[in-house]
Amino acid sequence: MNANINSLRDVLTRLETEGAGLGHFNVSDQVLLKAIIAAAAETKLPVLVGASEGERDFFGAHELAAVVKTSRQQSGLPIFLNADHTHSLDKAVEAANAGFDAITIDFSALPFDENVARTKETVQAIKAINPAILAEGEIGDIGTGSEIKETVRGGKLSTPEEARQFVEATGIDILAPAVGNMHGMLKSMVQGKAKKHLDIERIAQIKRSSEVFLTLHGGSGTDDEHFRRAITAGINIIHINTELRVAWRESLDASLSRDANEVVPYKILRPVVDSVKQVVISRLRLFHRGAVSSGAVGSVA
Ligand SMILES: [Zn+2]
Repeated sequence: MNANINSLRDVLTRLETEGAGLGHFNVSDQVLLKAIIAAAAETKLPVLVGASEGERDFFGAHELAAVVKTSRQQSGLPIFLNADHTHSLDKAVEAANAGFDAITIDFSALPFDENVARTKETVQAIKAINPAILAEGEIGDIGTGSEIKETVRGGKLSTPEEARQFVEATGIDILAPAVGNMHGMLKSMVQGKAKKHLDIERIAQIKRSSEVFLTLHGGSGTDDEHFRRAITAGINIIHINTELRVAWRESLDASLSRDANEVVPYKILRPVVDSVKQVVISRLRLFHRGAVSSGAVGSVA
């Protein structure tokens, strides 16, 4: 890591003090990654690039880590990398060895005790590889798949007591609770006609009982005001994926249909980068709206 850039833990601590949230944006390809890095460069705000197991399989975990590392070094921007939704010890170890800054360990589909045991084992394994890696654990049900869905069902919400128990038993640095958030978006959400709403009081209670950084998964389609209130209540990291995928698909469709004879990939893909970048910028600005800057934003020495 560039010595001039603070660690992810430092950035999270600073943003919490300022009343801002760190945007986490998923990538499957270089187009999405270019868009996120361009948004970070334009806003001078830190970003967390994420890739789930499926996204890492497509991009290549080591390849993605190498590109992010090079971008960070060349730009001097605080760009970090998270191994999103990691469902096995092997995949977590692979991400740790590849140089990821954080790993989202996800055994939340298992019964609570098994989730605790598998998460704890994985936290110890990745910290043995690199003690600076931030380990995230998940409890509760927030569905799977950042896609457009017919129905978004409400899963079981996390309680402050299980949050406290889970953090104490596993040694995680970051907790992802279920607080009304849900992966994916309804068509009505893509059209802007409906919004997700969060249980703000529950977030505040979980923050008090767990005393760790909190991540909000499945942020796409959430009401703007709820995002702001969630950050105030204790959310530190917000995941946006489906909104980026929708912008990627719609702008790619538009770009391809503009000229059927166009075959130059960078001419077709440039407007796609720009469309996704605009979504990232709007989310970053929202997560920092009203924040009190400590003057270190950008954190380039
Ligand atoms: Zn997620």
